[in-house]
Amino acid sequence: MKQRLNKYAVVRLEADLSGLTERERQMIPLLKNAARVMDELFWLQAYGDKLTLLAKVRDPDARRYVEINYGPWDRLEGNVPFLDGFSPKPPGANFYPPDMTKEEFEAAVKKAPDGGRALQSLYTLVRRDAAGALIAQPYHQAYGLLLEVAARNLREAARLAEDAGLRRYLELRAEALLTDKYQPSDLAWMDMKTNRLDIVIGPIETYEDRLFGYKAAYEAFVLVKDKEWSRRLARYAAMLGELQRGLPVPDAYKRETPGTASDLNVYDALYYAGDCNAGSKTIAINLPNDEEVQLRKGTRRLQLRNAMRAKFDKILVPIADRLIAADQRPRVHFDAFFANVLFHEVAHGLGIKRTLDGKLTVREALKDTYSALEECKADVLGLYIIGRLAARGELERTDLLDYYVTYLAGIFRSVRFGASSAHGIANLIAFHHLIRAQAIARDDRVGAWRVDVGRMQGAIADLAGRLLRLQGDGDYQAAAGFVKETGILAPELEADLERLGGASIPVDVVFEQD
Ligand code: ZN
Repeated sequence: MKQRLNKYAVVRLEADLSGLTERERQMIPLLKNAARVMDELFWLQAYGDKLTLLAKVRDPDARRYVEINYGPWDRLEGNVPFLDGFSPKPPGANFYPPDMTKEEFEAAVKKAPDGGRALQSLYTLVRRDAAGALIAQPYHQAYGLLLEVAARNLREAARLAEDAGLRRYLELRAEALLTDKYQPSDLAWMDMKTNRLDIVIGPIETYEDRLFGYKAAYEAFVLVKDKEWSRRLARYAAMLGELQRGLPVPDAYKRETPGTASDLNVYDALYYAGDCNAGSKTIAINLPNDEEVQLRKGTRRLQLRNAMRAKFDKILVPIADRLIAADQRPRVHFDAFFANVLFHEVAHGLGIKRTLDGKLTVREALKDTYSALEECKADVLGLYIIGRLAARGELERTDLLDYYVTYLAGIFRSVRFGASSAHGIANLIAFHHLIRAQAIARDDRVGAWRVDVGRMQGAIADLAGRLLRLQGDGDYQAAAGFVKETGILAPELEADLERLGGASIPVDVVFEQD
């Protein structure tokens, strides 16, 4: 159990609140109260009765691990039970009756007078009636009492809010919790631009329902926005057109106008609750999920800096200590890491969305290879933009080696857990090209890696150009061949990752936040 617990590094969630007004400070405990309700609700959805379970567990380490996992199943190990006497986690968690099969559910959907809408809703539980038939129970009925508590706290916070947009959002969100109608509050959330405090709260993501992916799980983030970063990002957004025109590809591949519609901001998290606090911690959010709201208002991307910092300090730094050569080790720095992440997001908006012949979107043309290539593009184009901005004196940290070495350490972190995700493959592709260009090299005498800053600059521009052309050409065969040849684990890397495996570096973090 100690070993399991050691996979998580404990970090205090801290943020600078000195810029807040008196009233904003008074709002925070109310927002946290509302968030704590989401924690209770997520327990009910993921497992059931938390107190009965915890009462059975004597060992303090095991109790802590139950709390981290919101149940007796290990979220970092494919949900295997880690307490004796528990069967594997039901794929439908506690959203559906434990003895229900997929076939039974699908048959009930076919028979239902509403076409199955209530049974498949994001916001209903599936239960059995007295005769054993499947019925849908709306969240706002099933969890009415707890939701009242959350709504009351949001409304009290709304009364204190000085920002009109935030006040309106909090009122509408309270209403949404009690009715399961979230769209008006999602729209109000997108309209609110000048608030400093924020709360993401409600049933939002559907990953906890591994049976069908229909049911949304409760969660909350209490957040404070960084206004300085918002100003800086607005400044960079104004330069996107120019950055696009400077991309290292022929004109045809950069004729589109880069997207600036969605908004990107930096926050510190004050509280995590429910789904987002279970197991591995979210460090970036892109919401809302409601496609109608997305079409009307775009989406908002939130980068949670202090949560990122926690993972950087506890996971990336120990990896860099082992795999980056001593003379370059001081280059691994949180500011550089954060800039890499942020400009990765900015870079998603650059380049090309439709193929050159205009027939398809790049996503349609490149199918299953799209995500990995797009993530790789965002990484290298992000570094490319950093180079351009640094040259113009737009960044505080101007030495590109900082960004490059930090990026290399990030690759080791990303591929450590396998290459099955788009991000994992993207990192392998980049690694492959950087080795071939001799922009990075392993020093076998010291068993660690080093960046060549001059070659790196050229290699990044080359790879960015290559990816942009693959996207613009929309040639699926070429893209699939490219991923197959270069999205593979280099043998030098494999040995080093094995070395890391023995070093018991934490896998994720857990927040001290109460
Ligand atoms: Zn991305």
